[in-house]
Amino acid sequence: MPEPLDFGGQTPPIDPPTGCNSPLVWRLARRLYADHQPGPDGWCLSCRPAIVYPCMARRLADLGLATAMGSASAGPRPANKGHHW
Ligand SMILES: [Zn+2]
Repeated sequence: MPEPLDFGGQTPPIDPPTGCNSPLVWRLARRLYADHQPGPDGWCLSCRPAIVYPCMARRLADLGLATAMGSASAGPRPANKGHHW
C-alpha cells in the first residue's frame, strides 16, 4: 500500500506537479481529496454520519495522489475475474 504523500501540511496542488506520471489519476484523486475534508469536529463533511476519519474516500484520494506520482507501488493488481468495463 503506498504511503500518503507528505505535503508538509500544505494542500496538494490542483494541477499535477512536475514529474507526475499520471495526470488524470492525480486530477481524479485531487478532486476526491477536496470533497472529503474534515469539518470543525474532525469528521468528514461529506460522509456523515462518520465512523472514522480519514474516511474511505479520503484514504483512496491519498492513495491516488501517491500512485499518480509513482512514489509507491500500488501492489499486485487484482486478478481479472471476467469483468469487462
Ligand atoms: Zn469522506
